[in-house]
Amino acid sequence: MPELPDVEGVARFLRRTAARRRITRVEVRDPSVVRSPSPRAFAQRVRGRSIQSIARRGKYLLFDLSGDLVMVGHLRMTGDFLVVPRDRPFRAHTRLVLGLGRDDLRFVDQRRFGHVDLIGAADLTTVSGLRALGVEPLSLEFTLDRLRALIAGRRGTLKAFLLRQDRIAGIGNIYADEILFRARLHPGRQLRTLRADEIRALYRSTRAVLRRAIAALSRRGRPVGDLTIMREPGGTCPRCGGPLRVATIAGRTTYFCPRCQH
Ligand SMILES: [Zn+2]
Repeated sequence: MPELPDVEGVARFLRRTAARRRITRVEVRDPSVVRSPSPRAFAQRVRGRSIQSIARRGKYLLFDLSGDLVMVGHLRMTGDFLVVPRDRPFRAHTRLVLGLGRDDLRFVDQRRFGHVDLIGAADLTTVSGLRALGVEPLSLEFTLDRLRALIAGRRGTLKAFLLRQDRIAGIGNIYADEILFRARLHPGRQLRTLRADEIRALYRSTRAVLRRAIAALSRRGRPVGDLTIMREPGGTCPRCGGPLRVATIAGRTTYFCPRCQH
């Protein structure tokens, strides 16, 4: 499931391949991919617009179109955007095609949970998931003080906290585990028991893990992480070599090292 580093990778790819190009053709091949407005209205309003820039917010992709419109995309489980020559045969599960002259921007999604919305640039907050998004962990606004304030007085586990999109945007199951492994913090730790030095470790780890993942994805196109590659039955801790433990924490399959993470 794509998380912040993966979506950032897609955004960077689209900035190179689809930005500053005009949408000459719209083909909604699966009406369920367009959440709002209707597929017909979507096609009418998007055709002829230019893609001016592409931004990422949390796990959302924001296509700024001419005429103060924004196409908001969410990849969900298996969605992906491709840019290919327009005469290339459609891959299975191609849901939406935006023609860019000689190329196509295609949205492919095997599981069909991904979607797009078309909204006015002034109405971004009407998309419920976007409105509620918390701080971007790689932005200047995400400081150690900000993290302290987000944690102060809250209950619940560290793992659940990292997954909350309305606190810190863009972290999912895999990178939450990776961040906690690097910070040597147990995913089941209660927020109110964290010491100042542990919150500092969490802060540094969050930024380091996400930055490193983005850099690695842009080089090799594969997810990375010390713990991530050991996420399998019989996986061992990359630090101490002991067996990793798997548990359901915050409703998600969670990997951690009981020896290194406290
Ligand atoms: Zn260990």
